[in-house]
Formats: sequence, structure tokens, C-alpha cells
Amino acid sequence: MRKLTIDLNAVAANLAAMRQLVNQVGNVKVLGVVKADAYGHGIVPVARKLEAEGIDYLGVADLEEAVTLRSAGIKSRILAWLHDPTDDFVWAVKHDVDLAVSANDQLRRVVKAAASVGKPAKIHIKVDTGLGRNGVTMAELEDLLANVAREVAAGAVQTVGIFSHLSSTGVTEDLAQIEVFEQALLKAAAAGLSFELRHLTASDGTLSYPQAHYDMVRVGVALYGLSPFSDNRAKEFGLTPAMKAEATVVQTKRVPAGSGVSYGYIYKTERETTLALVPVGYAEGLPRDASGKGSVVINGKKHQIQSRIAMDQFVVDVGDSSVSPGDTVLLFGSEELTADDLAAAAGTINYEIVTRMGGRFKREYLGLIEG
Ligand SMILES: *Cc1c(COP(=O)(O)O)cnc(C)c1O
Repeated sequence: MRKLTIDLNAVAANLAAMRQLVNQVGNVKVLGVVKADAYGHGIVPVARKLEAEGIDYLGVADLEEAVTLRSAGIKSRILAWLHDPTDDFVWAVKHDVDLAVSANDQLRRVVKAAASVGKPAKIHIKVDTGLGRNGVTMAELEDLLANVAREVAAGAVQTVGIFSHLSSTGVTEDLAQIEVFEQALLKAAAAGLSFELRHLTASDGTLSYPQAHYDMVRVGVALYGLSPFSDNRAKEFGLTPAMKAEATVVQTKRVPAGSGVSYGYIYKTERETTLALVPVGYAEGLPRDASGKGSVVINGKKHQIQSRIAMDQFVVDVGDSSVSPGDTVLLFGSEELTADDLAAAAGTINYEIVTRMGGRFKREYLGLIEG
């Protein structure tokens, strides 16, 4: 009735495309970002596929996501970067999960965990070069670096990496952040620290700034075949969308002109017509804001969703087109209708569209690797 088809072979192909891009200049590693259930694609199936493709690193926000990966038998290197003050760093050190360190209190907890496990913790120093989210500020960087250097000497931590994240505001702002990152690298060197991996760019920066690839890039949305610029440019970058959302028509009916349709009657039929009922609503992640603006494709023809999207369902006026219960409704995920199109209709970005898809959708995988 409701189906998300996740093409893991497309994910593998997108990884290959990104690898080719970053290795035009030097030998740059790729960290595949699988946070938020792999942007709605399924964290374990995606991670297994990336591991089989020899991904260098997997990236998650929460430590809990790293637990999910290790519990599923994922052996790849993992970096987690968004920590709650109560997160279990002991588990992380035991299970070889690298931790981003954004502040002195996090460093203290990491050091304690390392002592309790009896092996050094692997850390990546996170610097706030201008995004204003997590990461140590430039004003507090030297102090943190000095403390890290002391713990490195004591054998409590190993500095695997140093990284930051761009705001993607515009070229001027991004280049300014790259410059600040360079200053952070100089300060780290002055503190006597060295790193295997300096990393800065996500998908957009990776595509925009080859000079800022450093030793590794952190790629999320591009792996799922979407353009980080949310303007339907995926194909231009050699990317293939990995998610297709479909449903079946569950009922059709003929109604006269002037019939009000769905909540609030934002749409009334202008002539006798056929209405088709589609069992997907905002519970599945279809944005209610796409009411009156979004489109679907039924039997090769595009139709607007003129009426209000409800929790479980929406109605499409298909005119005199021949549509019957059981016909397939494409919501997005093909060339004729993309996640970018739905995002534009709902006033959001393609990231949000795929990440929020869930509810009662059933996922079907292509190219699945059994665990
Ligand atoms: C989410 C995230 C990424 C990936 O971003 P994309 O735009 O999806 O490539 C990279 N780095 C960090 C720190 C992130 O939080």
C-alpha cells in the first residue's frame, strides 16, 4: 500500500562518484554520514553496503547511533560528534568509536573513560570556525589544545583528527571559515599535535571547494543521490537518488462539479471529475505544507495535490484520466518527480523530505547485503 524503495546500488554508485571527485587531486578519504537512520534510508542496510564498498569511515551524530552500528556487526571506523553530558564514553572507547571533542568537560570525560577501559580514546578535535553549533571557539581553542597535548603525552588520548563544519551561507562566508580552520591547524601544530585526518567539508563543500578536502570529506546527502544545493542538480554531479516513494490508489469515485474535497475545502471540483484516494499522509512524513502545491504521478501523468494532505491520506483530482484502485502513485524518486520537487512545493529542502519519510511506509531494498 505504501512503499519506499531504497536502492543500495545507487548508494554504492554515489560513493564511487564522490571518491572519483575527491581523488582527482590527492588521496582523500571519505566518511559516509549515516546519522538520522541514514537520512531515512535505514542506517544498518546503508552502513553494511558502505562497509562492503570499503568506506573509510562512518559518521553519526549520537553515540546511540554508533551503538546500533556496532550491535549490527559493523566493523568500520566510526566517528560520533554530538554528545549529551551523560553519554557512555566508556562504551565508545571499548568499542573503538572515535569521539569528537568540542570542550574541556568532554575531554575530561573522555580521559576518565580511557582510564577505566585501559586504552587511549580516539578523538577528533571539533573547532567552531563560524557555524556557531558545537565545536570549541577560537578563543578557547588554545586552552583545549594544551589540555589535549597533556593527555596525549599521558597516553590517555590519541588525536586522530581535527575538524569543523561549514555554514553554507555563501562563498564569502565559507572561504572565511576555511581561513579560520587554517588558523586552527596552525595553533594545533604549535601545541605539538599532529593528526591523521583533517576534515572540513560535507557534500556541498566537497563539491564546491576542492582546496578544502584536506585528508577526508564527510559526505551525507550526496551518498543518497541528492544535490546539497536543493536545485535538482543531482544528475549534473553524477548522483542517482536512492529513495523512491510510492503508494497504491485505494479508492476512486466520480463526483459532480462543486464538490468540496478534504479538510477545510481548500479545493472544490470545477466540473464532474474522478477523485483518487492515496493512503499516505503526514504520519508518513509527507509534508502537510505541500497541500495545494505538490504533485504525484499516476499512470505516467502528473497530477497536483490540490486538497489538504491529512494524517493518513490525500485525494487527487485526476479529471477524466483512467485511474483505478491498485494503480501506482509515485510521490517522488524518479526523473519526472524528484525529492527536490516535493521539497520546493513544501518550502523545505530535499534532506528533510527523505529523512522524514517513515510512518507506515514499508522499505524494500535493492542490493541488500544480509547481516
Ligand atoms: C550532517 C553532517 C554532515 C553531512 O552533511 P551533508 O550535507 O549531508 O553531506 C557532515 N558533517 C557534519 C558534522 C554533519 O553534521
